[in-house]
Amino acid sequence: MYQNKYSVVILGAGPIGSLFAIMLSKKCKKLEKILLISKKFTYDDKRILALNYGSVQTLNQFNVFPNIHSHIKNVHISYKNHLGRVLINNTDFQIPFLGSVISYKDLCNSLHKSLLNSKINIIYEDNVSIIEQNEKHVIINVNNKNIYSELLIKANGINVNENCISINDICREYNQYALITEIKSSYNKRYWAWERFTQLGPIAILPHPYKNGHFSVILCTSKNYSAYLLNLNKYDFSTTLNEIFGSRLGRLEVIDDKHIFPLYLKIKKNIIDGRIISIGNAAQTLHPIAGQGLNLGIRDVVYLVKYITPWLNEQEEFYNMALNIFNEKRKCDRNLTIKTTDILSKIFLNTDNFSQISLSFGMIMMSMITPISYPLSNHMVYGFRK
Ligand SMILES: Cc1cc2nc3c(=O)[nH]c(=O)nc-3n(C[C@H](O)[C@H](O)[C@H](O)COP(=O)(O)OP(=O)(O)OC[C@H]3O[C@@H](n4cnc5c(N)ncnc54)[C@H](O)[C@@H]3O)c2cc1C
Repeated sequence: MYQNKYSVVILGAGPIGSLFAIMLSKKCKKLEKILLISKKFTYDDKRILALNYGSVQTLNQFNVFPNIHSHIKNVHISYKNHLGRVLINNTDFQIPFLGSVISYKDLCNSLHKSLLNSKINIIYEDNVSIIEQNEKHVIINVNNKNIYSELLIKANGINVNENCISINDICREYNQYALITEIKSSYNKRYWAWERFTQLGPIAILPHPYKNGHFSVILCTSKNYSAYLLNLNKYDFSTTLNEIFGSRLGRLEVIDDKHIFPLYLKIKKNIIDGRIISIGNAAQTLHPIAGQGLNLGIRDVVYLVKYITPWLNEQEEFYNMALNIFNEKRKCDRNLTIKTTDILSKIFLNTDNFSQISLSFGMIMMSMITPISYPLSNHMVYGFRK
């Protein structure tokens, strides 16, 4: 059963909505004021995610980091058929590892277990619509019943059918798919991850969370080429992957089915719309090239919890300030991450000679003069947390 008035309603129990609810449950004194609206929990998403060191710390702090994971200590970045490569190592940052690889399914599982042990109110419904908002409330219709909430936190991921609300929002299809599978290799390089840019698109090879010596492959490529790859049997797909990736890991052998995800860039310029706040993929859905979507969403959560807790704990006067500070504090991190990711997603597909030579030269410079790559890698490892 649920009442019809709340201070905070959270829509969506993916990684971001769930983490937000768990963090609030530890900080808020009156949990009856919070409601999480979830679809029925299902764990069939095959995504494998690389989380940076900062995100792993946050999840660990709330005991929701999945037990099954594989650390990354070295990252090798290269551009096929061009000179230069960049190596990033955990010792460069004096941290025990750069990040960790987990499965989306395990993360959700771990978050949901923690949610069920918390005293957060959860309802399982997907017949939800936002009716309107006024000066005091957002009115949300859940299965033909109206709920009034002072704040609605949208953590419902991307809605591909929803149009851009403002002309400053960005809604773009990349016309690419991310194709995911599992491989094993004849060389076993533990704790290593690779990002290789090719003219077909970028390929990431991550240590698999379940099995040492196995790797997760994420290849982002055009829809046409993905369709061709999807039709290949395991043997032919293995041959193609070996051609694309080269011999750094010895012979690669595909051992799992292929799974595809369409890729979008969807950015809300304003994450606050009156009493409705968007976080995670509902605020920004990025190309997975740099593995930053969830990392950025986790930082949305950390900041939102920090700024709305004083208001939730009975200090009404903090309401406007909380929203304004949250909005201001998220601008720089969001802009930097969104722009870097989008540039990376396009730049390496550029076929003109000048771009290729500049990129190759850029990579050589980055590898020779390590400090040049530091600000960017530092952001990727920790995220902007000022
Ligand atoms: C192939 C691929 C690889 C990726 N790799 C990485 C990576 O390595 N590192 C990284 O940081 N990020 C990565 N990402 C991005 C990452 O997956 C997302 O940023 C992350 O899942 C966002 O979490 P979220 O909770 O905001 O959204 P989602 O994961 O989309 O969850 C939204 C939730 O809301 C629920 N929902 C939707 N509508 C309703 C409704 N009306 N009522 C109730 N519930 C609703 C959905 O069922 C879902 O559970 C990758 C993405 C892809 C596609």
